[in-house]
Amino acid sequence: MLLAATIPVFTVFSDRAGPWTMGAWYAIVCALAAALIRMERGFAQQEHALPAAPDRHHHCGTIGLAGLAFALPIALFPGAAMAGPGPHFAAMQVLLGVYVVALAMAVRAALAFAAIFGIGGAVGLLMAGGLEWGAGAAAAQLCIAGLAAAGAVILARLSASLNTARAGAREKEETLSLLLREFEHDRAEWLWQVDGTRRMRHVSPRFATALGIEAQAAEGLPLIEAIAGEGWKTGALPASLRDLAERLKRREAFSGTIVRVQVNGTARWWELSGTPICDEGGRFAGFRGVGSDVTERTENAQKVARLARYDQLTGLPNRMMLNENLRRAMTDAASPHGHCAFLSIDIDRFKTVNDTLGHAIGDALLVQVAQRLREMMGAGDMCGRMDGDEFGIVMTGDASAAAVQAMAAAIIERVSRPYDIDRHAVHIGLRIGSATYAGNAETGESLMRRADLALEWAKEAGGGVHLAYEPGMQAEADKRRALENALHQAVENAELDLQFQPVVDTESESIVGFEALLRWNSAAHGRIAPDVFIPIAERTGAIVPIGEWVLNRACEEAAKWPAHVRLAVNVSPEQLLHENFTRALSHALDNSGLSPARLELEVTESVFLRDGAAVQATFRRIEGLGCTIALDDFGTGYSSLGYLRTHRFSTIKIDRSFVQGATKNSAESVAILRAVVALADALDMTTTAEGVENDSELENIRRLGCTRIQGYLFGSPMDAREARALFGHGGEAGVR
Ligand code: C2E
Ligand code: CA
Ligand code: CA
Repeated sequence: MLLAATIPVFTVFSDRAGPWTMGAWYAIVCALAAALIRMERGFAQQEHALPAAPDRHHHCGTIGLAGLAFALPIALFPGAAMAGPGPHFAAMQVLLGVYVVALAMAVRAALAFAAIFGIGGAVGLLMAGGLEWGAGAAAAQLCIAGLAAAGAVILARLSASLNTARAGAREKEETLSLLLREFEHDRAEWLWQVDGTRRMRHVSPRFATALGIEAQAAEGLPLIEAIAGEGWKTGALPASLRDLAERLKRREAFSGTIVRVQVNGTARWWELSGTPICDEGGRFAGFRGVGSDVTERTENAQKVARLARYDQLTGLPNRMMLNENLRRAMTDAASPHGHCAFLSIDIDRFKTVNDTLGHAIGDALLVQVAQRLREMMGAGDMCGRMDGDEFGIVMTGDASAAAVQAMAAAIIERVSRPYDIDRHAVHIGLRIGSATYAGNAETGESLMRRADLALEWAKEAGGGVHLAYEPGMQAEADKRRALENALHQAVENAELDLQFQPVVDTESESIVGFEALLRWNSAAHGRIAPDVFIPIAERTGAIVPIGEWVLNRACEEAAKWPAHVRLAVNVSPEQLLHENFTRALSHALDNSGLSPARLELEVTESVFLRDGAAVQATFRRIEGLGCTIALDDFGTGYSSLGYLRTHRFSTIKIDRSFVQGATKNSAESVAILRAVVALADALDMTTTAEGVENDSELENIRRLGCTRIQGYLFGSPMDAREARALFGHGGEAGVR
């Protein structure tokens, strides 16, 4: 452009300036142009980067010099400028103006050129032409330079904002591809893309791996065909895949869709998300999204779902599945077609099998029980394992009371036949509770609870029994629960009291001790007999704090008696085997100051059904403290003389039933009593006969040789104050 502008300069000025001056001028302009071309090439090679500041200054300075070079002829020969051929001068001005605008990329250089050329030229013209014509020409010169400069500035702005936009877009693109690369790198996921005809495009290596083919081979293949495997030919696509094809066709975005695909002939599970994409013109251009192989996760989830619904040992449905089934059956039963019922089955003596023959045999037994149950199920019935040794059955179809009863009886008959496990003959019993749905229980759980309640009653009724739920059972259970709650508060609410019943020596009939007997006067339920509330306390664990209270209270009272009078306190197995028992016992002794030798703890045979080693260890600790232990209620339970050999009790308390039996001359009672007394004498134990109510019973007991007597004949249980009053000032007491 600069060189082009030299041509009109020559035409205008060569006459005035002469060839030498013009030659020198031309050489200067050429040198400047060459320098500028060199510099600009250098800038171009740096591509997007901005040239360094010194280079830019140099460039600007050189262009400034060029501006001076063109202003000079006008300033030196203004006359020529005005007098020469006008169009040529104008062409020179226009060319230089265009040059300035073209310099917009280097806007400062453009301004420098325009300023120097415009001002230099204008000053020259003004000096030559004065006010007459110089001022106008100078103004025109300034105007042209000014317009060119303004054009350059506008163009520079435009180009700057265009550049910014372009750089922004480029940056965005770069960031996106960086993110995507990282995305594929860091995760097991891949990107996928299909065009408007659902053919795969831009297949990434990772996606190709997932497809099990080369990326190039995958390019352009229809997506569904590539992942359908054999199904593509036969037309038997899995539902998930058909669904995916449908969404692609409908151009619908989807996310987290699990599809079953075929990769190299093997079935896999993919999780796919996709969004429709559009081209620049806003037309639909296919889908783009992410995918991942979730085969393991899906299969694990299916396994877990199976695990969650089946019992692992027997392979039967578990409680959860039975519950689901029951709910379904109940919904169906709500239709006019009929009933459904739930049966709760409990194995009697399973614990004994487990304890005596070991868990392996116990497990094998459960498997065989499950097998027998399974064989008895009719169409529409489902049996399952609820928990431990409890099974359940959902009966649908005919679930009338008669059908349930028939099923229960058949199960009891069949399932309690002896088992042969590992050459062990195993005998078990069954108890069944059932509840029939008649629109009366809202949930499966509540129907199950009713069957369980009936089962509890069946258990109490003894082996081999089936009981159907009756509304009265619930009321009874509610009452029991209310009693349980009240019992838990009994110590706190000071509703407990102790009575004391004298124990006398058979010969002298003088009091040798008292048995402490617990009384509960409930604010809500009135007086409750110990035979009722003690079993409840034992079952709920309330016996531990209650027993502790009894020990403290009894010892405190006994400490007030003469030193030879002993105290007997009943202790339940639950309490005895509680970890805190010995500590509680020594506390009671310490707090009261009662000599341990005066305290006897009464335990029943049922304690031997517990962990033998733990029982023996506790007995040793009790005796280590200096207390003695009595075997209570001998003759009511197992009446095994064997127990007497297990532990050296200091006293055997013979139950009232033996005392009565002996009086009625029951040969068996008399024989056992004789044997017990003989054994006790030999082992140096005392024998106490319980429940002696009259003289004839007393006579019999005396004759048989029992050492102590406890019974209404010598005194009913009495208040602490009354018991204390029995001792005169001498401390000797008699009751008759
Ligand atoms: P047990 O240990 O056999 O207590 C003797 C029971 O026989 C007492 O009944 C007593 O009142 C009753 N009895 C005494 N003499 C006669 C008699 O001549 N004829 C008749 N028919 N009965 C007589 P009670 O007080 O109702 O206690 C019942 C059971 O409650 C006790 O039987 C004992 O097993 C349990 N028990 C009482 N207090 C406690 C306690 O503090 N802790 C524990 N764990 N159990 C207790
Ligand atoms: Ca007792
Ligand atoms: Ca007793």
